[in-house]
Amino acid sequence: MPAPVPLRTPLLGPFRHGFSLRSAQEASDHAFEAPGRGAALAAFAVATGLGEVRQTKQVHGATLVEGSVSSEQTEADGLLSFPGGPAVGVRTADCVPILLADRVSGAVAAVHAGWRGVVAGIAPAAVARLGSRPGTILAAIGPAIGPCCFEVGPEVVDALVDGGAMPEDRRFANGRSRAGKPLVDLRACVAFQLEKSGLSKEAIALVGGCTYCDDEYHSFRRDGAASGRMLAAIAPNS
Ligand SMILES: [Zn+2]
Repeated sequence: MPAPVPLRTPLLGPFRHGFSLRSAQEASDHAFEAPGRGAALAAFAVATGLGEVRQTKQVHGATLVEGSVSSEQTEADGLLSFPGGPAVGVRTADCVPILLADRVSGAVAAVHAGWRGVVAGIAPAAVARLGSRPGTILAAIGPAIGPCCFEVGPEVVDALVDGGAMPEDRRFANGRSRAGKPLVDLRACVAFQLEKSGLSKEAIALVGGCTYCDDEYHSFRRDGAASGRMLAAIAPNS
């Protein structure tokens, strides 16, 4: 069965990029979980025109590396690439994948952010590393667990508010789950951070939906250890 066509956004049109979906093949071999493995990676490369995608060992931190000097053993949750450099990608299943592109310089970044990465500010850090003019940076925030499903402990909400990733007045904006736990919109937190970094609303696109609700995506919370991962990747423009 062929892999589904990766999601793309017109906002990043000049840049080769894509957010993979789940496929039967991925579900069986966790294709994107091990960097460099699997037929799904080859299918993704063909569908997006990206070729080899540089990836790292993701550790829920806030470290950024240049894809040109990273390896699969490099511990980092964000990769930068500049004109002439390689395509870069991150793997997710509920965490937020973010693709950034500077429409003037051609530089790009791929970022993996769970709530810890959001609190640590990895997306704004990537914007800062891409260049001195955030007004030229475009962002695509990919499929992640949504405010419908992402129930957290109160300490997570506190960390997001204290870390400046969520305004105080949005603290309980998404209500509570049936279990009485706060629900959080992590993608909105990332968008909020990016706007604070100088990106306009029009420069930020939301791509795809809630990974937990919709089984066209992988979801670690839904599928547990059996969950595969999706790949989000982008290449710099020369
Ligand atoms: Zn949902």
